[in-house]
Amino acid sequence: MESGIFLASVMISIAMNGLILSSIIYYNISDIVMPHKPQKTSISEKIRLSAMIYEKTADLIKQDKEIMRLLRELNISIEEAEKVKKSTGLAKECEDCAKGGGGCCGRNMEAHYGIEIILINLLMGVKLYQSKYKEDSCHFLGEDGCILKAREVICVNFLCERIYSGIPLRNIILFQEVYGIALQKLFYLEEKIKMFLRRNILY
Ligand code: SF4
Ligand code: SF4
Repeated sequence: MESGIFLASVMISIAMNGLILSSIIYYNISDIVMPHKPQKTSISEKIRLSAMIYEKTADLIKQDKEIMRLLRELNISIEEAEKVKKSTGLAKECEDCAKGGGGCCGRNMEAHYGIEIILINLLMGVKLYQSKYKEDSCHFLGEDGCILKAREVICVNFLCERIYSGIPLRNIILFQEVYGIALQKLFYLEEKIKMFLRRNILY
């Protein structure tokens, strides 16, 4: 264990349908206290851990009415925001940028993603892989763009100079307003997921 890096030993005990799962995982403490900051636990470890939690708790999560309501609302809000992204010309601008070799989905952007949002994406049916599509890009950048449905605020809020010079300001504001609703729902859902994990997984 490197000095300066604090690792939390997390004991998972999930009692479900008579099944007791006990596992010790190592998770960087700063990843827990500052989940929206770049995190030190590797993305493959976070994906592995999230997949394990999903496999053991998905049925239980799906019985939680509040989580399922927020998940449905988040899905709708994201779909609406993506429609606005298309209708305002933002999506086309970013597609053209990516085709021309540009883009802002750089290496290590995935470090901003914690277990809760990865779990939310799994619950939304997103398939995640241990290997990345492009070595010098974000882990979640696929052949046709970002493979995630629920994205962190840093991915949604960043708009470059090309966007500001190519898209009318009113369209940018409209997009930000609509996506802001989705981000608010994502925040509530992440909090509920954290509470669920605290209730069902003993740290
Ligand atoms: S925000 Fe800017 S840099 Fe990022 S993909 Fe769109 S046009 Fe390209
Ligand atoms: S939008 Fe998706 S692919 Fe791009 S940096 Fe964010 S998570 Fe990575």
